[in-house]
Amino acid sequence: MERTFPSLLARMQELKDLQGVIGLATWDQETYMPAKADDARAHQLSTLQGLHHERLVDPRLGEVLAWAAMQPDLDADQRAMVRVLSHERDRAVRVPHALVKALAEAQSRALAAWRQARKEKRFALFQPALARILELRREQADAYGHEGERYDALLEGYEPGMRVERLTPVLTALRDALIPMVAAIAAAPRKVPDLFEGRHFDGEAQWRFTLRLLEAVGFDLEAGRQDRSIHPFTGGTHPLDVRLTTRIDESNPLNALFSTIHEAGHGLYEQGFAEAHYRTPLAAAPSMGLHESQSRLWENVVGRGRAFWEHFYPSLRETFPQALAGVDLDTFHTAANRVSPSLIRTEADEVTYNLHIVLRYELELLLIHDRLPLADVPAAWNERMRRYLGVTPPDDTLGVLQDIHWAWGEFGYFPTYALGNLYSASLYRAAERALPDLTERIRRGELLSLRDWLRTHVHRQGFRLPAEELIHQVTGRGLTDVDFLQYLRGKYSALYGTSL
Ligand SMILES: [Zn+2]
Repeated sequence: MERTFPSLLARMQELKDLQGVIGLATWDQETYMPAKADDARAHQLSTLQGLHHERLVDPRLGEVLAWAAMQPDLDADQRAMVRVLSHERDRAVRVPHALVKALAEAQSRALAAWRQARKEKRFALFQPALARILELRREQADAYGHEGERYDALLEGYEPGMRVERLTPVLTALRDALIPMVAAIAAAPRKVPDLFEGRHFDGEAQWRFTLRLLEAVGFDLEAGRQDRSIHPFTGGTHPLDVRLTTRIDESNPLNALFSTIHEAGHGLYEQGFAEAHYRTPLAAAPSMGLHESQSRLWENVVGRGRAFWEHFYPSLRETFPQALAGVDLDTFHTAANRVSPSLIRTEADEVTYNLHIVLRYELELLLIHDRLPLADVPAAWNERMRRYLGVTPPDDTLGVLQDIHWAWGEFGYFPTYALGNLYSASLYRAAERALPDLTERIRRGELLSLRDWLRTHVHRQGFRLPAEELIHQVTGRGLTDVDFLQYLRGKYSALYGTSL
């Protein structure tokens, strides 16, 4: 490798291309791959990931990056590319090969144990595998390096720049504001019935409606596509090839509608990266929380809003004249925003959702600090469920075993969901200040002005700045729960006819 920027750029492009192909193979694995290809695909992916890792930790790349960091004549984007790739490479280099291997083995054991434990509804069957995962993740955190707070080193992998010291006070205040809000909604006079019970919504008609929604929010179907998968996700190979998936449930149209809008939010972000950043480290979100802010902004703030359905509900009713017979706009809108403390995070509404996250975050801190005996984890989980949400899991499968994340070893991931919610509300407020007639535009179905505002201020920035700095630049302040709580209070006071 020459000590020139073009030769460094060529390596950046190669790394991004490898990631793109990994993305394509992973997307295919979840959508169209025949069942018998399972093992073959696992080998192919592991080979590609091995190649990517080898090219990333290559000492010659380290030398050229160190050289580039000293060059005064690079422009701001080039400097940011060097910074982002150096950071990624430093983390990869610090973890010894033996630890990487041990983690991969521990993960596959933990996944198998987690599945068995779920089947038998007994956390104890998962406990030894989890103990091993935790031991290795602590070791890995120390290998990454930190200033006394181990969890920071893990959080860094999902939310670069975020620290426990910064995050804990915000999430604790959010928790303490949400608990009484959930209780007040439960006590509110207006009750929201489960609207869709016993009704049937044709799958093909749902599919066609989701494509119309994608078009309306400005997702480019010539630079991406939508398919079906069991768990909806966004993947792809490049900003001009973004793959979304959705999930159709013929007994409830909300799954497909909101999965599509959610993934479209991720997809718009991916399609919105600046052309000058394609095939470089800057064609990426600076954090998972910021990525999630885009999906949640579109799904919740826009997609579950009344203005949005004032425009789309008439055509939804035309699509399902029988299933939606007798359901007016207000009833539908309320049903789409039903608040109900529940056991399962992925089914939670936007008021209770963050309490599920705070619970996990608090337990993760205790576990990483080795301050909670593993045998006590189910009890600690259940006790918090009671305190925060007023519900008690009847068994471990509906409680502590519900998420796959810990079996994957993904400690530090959960908080990014809450950050996504908080950032989404702050960004939407900033958009409202910039586009004072935004609600009116949404009511007319004109969603492209919001997409373009996000494109300019968030998407095209790529990974130029760390997430919270970008948020500060766009909204005038950093991480806060103020905008999110104000959004919830306004929306749910009206919906539930009570003052929150
Ligand atoms: Zn998401």
